[in-house]
Amino acid sequence: MAFHSGFVCILGRPNAGKSTLLNALVGGKLAIISPKPQTTRNRIQGVIHVQTGKAKEAGQVILIDTPGVHKPDSSLGRKMMTEVAEALEGSDLILLIAEVTQKSVAADRFVLEMAKRSKTPIFLLLNKIDRIEKGRLLPIIDEWRRLHDFKEIIPISALKKNGLEVLVERVLKALPEGPRYFPEDQMTDQPARFMVAEIIREQVLLDTREEIPYATTVVVEQFDEGERLTRIAATIYCEREGQKAILVGKRGQMLKKIGTSSRWQIERMLGKKVFLDLFVKVRPAWRESREFVDGLDWRRQVENLVAAEKP
Ligand code: GDP
Ligand code: MG
Repeated sequence: MAFHSGFVCILGRPNAGKSTLLNALVGGKLAIISPKPQTTRNRIQGVIHVQTGKAKEAGQVILIDTPGVHKPDSSLGRKMMTEVAEALEGSDLILLIAEVTQKSVAADRFVLEMAKRSKTPIFLLLNKIDRIEKGRLLPIIDEWRRLHDFKEIIPISALKKNGLEVLVERVLKALPEGPRYFPEDQMTDQPARFMVAEIIREQVLLDTREEIPYATTVVVEQFDEGERLTRIAATIYCEREGQKAILVGKRGQMLKKIGTSSRWQIERMLGKKVFLDLFVKVRPAWRESREFVDGLDWRRQVENLVAAEKP
């Protein structure tokens, strides 16, 4: 039997449900999710392994979740859009995900144009169908059809996991015959160290409001895996003293809350006890600093580690 494989880029506006879809398809939590736009900052790869057996086809789908497409206004924003462009490059298929609850498709035009420019086949996924009545779906599909000749249009609910089986089946069919890129037990190419930083950032996103989620980033400074205990030290960076005061909270209560819930999640991910030391530091206007933003990129961090180890 033929083995199909390839790279599939999930593209869409902020909050469309890209990360929810990635996690649902991979069957684990790779990408953090929050109701706030611009939660995802890096491209994230997840692997779906489709086994032989009941399925007619076997294969491997490498999904790439991307930051939401938006007009950047800072170094961080520009870096996020570079991540999108790099994900698009070399992908075999695009899953363009749009919210079916939107009043008009106009808002998604910009993303559609970007997808079209890449000359890659596009599946349109109309997400959040759990939030509309069935009768409203057909006119929306018609409206989209007039904009582009999509290879497939598939209504889904990433949250309720509706329509995903059909989606995987059609994706696999659309991919060429190819190799197994990742071993069968591998779900992602993200290092644990980076996932730890993301878990902490997700807690900050969930526990704080207004500008704080956007002004925050997390850097893991120490990651020592012992046999029974993993020691982790991480710093939450923000941009102003006032934000730091909120992140620390009265008598350190907020930081404690973020630390405790992060630790539970990290322990679950690593399957090991964790000692987590959290700090908050102010770094004015870090989002504008090209150097600092580049330093946050785990792919670059990994390259530097490898370079440092070379004699
Ligand atoms: P992203 O910015 O495109 O990655 O979007 P997320 O995956 O972070 O999701 C944004 C918000 O939409 C979160 O609050 C999700 O729970 C919600 N969401 C995602 N998919 C669905 C869906 O199928 N139905 C509903 N009702 N909500 C969804
Ligand atoms: Mg996301």
